[in-house]
Amino acid sequence: MCGIVAYLGKKAAQPILIEGLKRLEYRGYDSAGIALLGGGAIRIKKTGGRIASLEQILDEADPAETFGIGHTRWATHGRPNTVNAHPHADYTGKIAVVHNGIIENYGTLKTWLANEGATFTSETDTEIIAALIGYFYAKCAEDEAGILHGNQNKFEWSVQRALRELHGTFGLAIVCSDFPDLLIGAKKGSPLLLGLGENEYILASDAAAIVEHTTQAIYLADNEMVTISPEGFHTKTIDNITVTKDLQQIEFSLEQIELGGFSHHMLKEIFEQPRALATCMGGRIDPQNHRIKLGGIASYLRELTRTKRLILTGCGTAFHAALVGEFLFEQLARIPAETEYASEFRYRNPIIEDGTVVIAISQSGETLDTLAAVEEAKERGATVLGVVNVVGSAIARATDAGVYLHAGPEVGVASTKAFTAQVTVLTMLAIELGRRKHISSDQADGLTDELACVPEKVDVILEQSERIRNIAASNIDRDNWLFLGRGFNYPVALEGALKLKEISYIHAEGLPAAEMKHGPIALIVDGMPAVFIATAGPQYDKILGNIAEVRARGGTIIVVATEGDENIASVLGPTDHLITIPEAPEHLQPILTVVPLQLLAYHAAVLRGHDVDKPRNLAKSVTVE
Ligand code: GLU
Repeated sequence: MCGIVAYLGKKAAQPILIEGLKRLEYRGYDSAGIALLGGGAIRIKKTGGRIASLEQILDEADPAETFGIGHTRWATHGRPNTVNAHPHADYTGKIAVVHNGIIENYGTLKTWLANEGATFTSETDTEIIAALIGYFYAKCAEDEAGILHGNQNKFEWSVQRALRELHGTFGLAIVCSDFPDLLIGAKKGSPLLLGLGENEYILASDAAAIVEHTTQAIYLADNEMVTISPEGFHTKTIDNITVTKDLQQIEFSLEQIELGGFSHHMLKEIFEQPRALATCMGGRIDPQNHRIKLGGIASYLRELTRTKRLILTGCGTAFHAALVGEFLFEQLARIPAETEYASEFRYRNPIIEDGTVVIAISQSGETLDTLAAVEEAKERGATVLGVVNVVGSAIARATDAGVYLHAGPEVGVASTKAFTAQVTVLTMLAIELGRRKHISSDQADGLTDELACVPEKVDVILEQSERIRNIAASNIDRDNWLFLGRGFNYPVALEGALKLKEISYIHAEGLPAAEMKHGPIALIVDGMPAVFIATAGPQYDKILGNIAEVRARGGTIIVVATEGDENIASVLGPTDHLITIPEAPEHLQPILTVVPLQLLAYHAAVLRGHDVDKPRNLAKSVTVE
């Protein structure tokens, strides 16, 4: 959520900042700006709208300006317009900041600073950070000798002093006109890493903005800051205690985050699923002895086998993956499991008994609500495991152990391959626990072999993309849709509805199919699309009944069924539609049934003329509460 990039090196900063912001644009895209340093002044250019709008107001890059900061915003405080766009300068004009996060006590600080003579131009919480640093900077100038400590200058001191007053979260890049070659980065709750190039540094919210320049980086931890100058960098806590950071290798390449011939990242990522899932399972499933090895949590398997209760938690799509996990752990391993919205978890005084294990799921590993749930669960004594995609991310570090998805970077705001990879990881774990607790070895072997075949089956489903586009086209003027599934496919119905809502802005509800008759059936009018997942399984006959109920009321049926189902045609009318998936055990179906729903949402959004990769009001990696 919101992208920060800062550059200090020998090249012209402006094009590097713009390129970096474009790579981070999926994190937020309602306004953007940069600040360049040169000649003892800070030159800020910013505007409402996207990076393309920012480019239009920029002058030719000045090769002498080799230092600057940039931001692409996802507004939390104040409308997305030019005044509220970052960077924000303080009232003295000496300090400028770009910020990702929320300052919770900004109201109190603003009042206090105003009484001290500060003035403000924006509605943002961010502006008070600049003002507070500016305030301490002015104060420090009055009494320099009295407050500075050995290794500090007054810019750095003022930053540390100000940061200690802030409640909430921040990833920050900060500059001061009196220090034309000193960049300060600081982090609490929002991600920030420093790329170390040859004679250049790139500070950014995520690796996508860095990887073009270098693959060597250091990741800041909470309450840490970094001071960067042409002579080198220094990491310390905001309390001025030096910390030594390990150099990390950024593990993905530029090609992985580029479109590679696809019209959108979302489509590319939908089509990447066979490979992503194969990589996710690679080295973890042994085809010879059918065993599954999840190295990251191997030492927790005993505890998991004995656990009395599993809590799965996540937000949005990850929450839906968690719900599939709940079904899997209960069915295969008979471990009582429940799914909690991470955003609610820490506010409901959760009961964590001895032997409770929490599994936190997040693509980015930075989702603030999920991170907060992890911390809450740990504080209450639970063992907490992570299922995340981004290596080294906050949740990966905060959890006791975990399993990486290895799905490759996901850039599309609407999550696709991360969902199927999350479910794949949970399925692998559930089969392995099942083998130890409930199902027979033969059953476990069979499921393992079937799981290994899932990538090929996804490939077969993807071949229907054009057909699914036609289905979307023939229903494109419909503003209300239902998604219905039972058992393992109920969370998929939720996910299908979410996908359609978030990128096509069509109102959609996902429901357990049998719940429809308890209320939502009232919504059905002639031609209203109802998407059913009616694949082979114990509830198949029941769901045929639900299909009949919708048909009887004039709804249009779009059904996802199992290939070779000869019966299904008999419940469909001439205006209804059929999509098929290859045969698979019901435990594995969610990984398959979701794929046509992803394509349906994608095509509907494109047909409606929406920018699929930058949906309205959304952003990837939600790092605010
Ligand atoms: N809270 C800040 C604002 O609304 C930063 C939001 C963000 O992370 O983009 O401007």
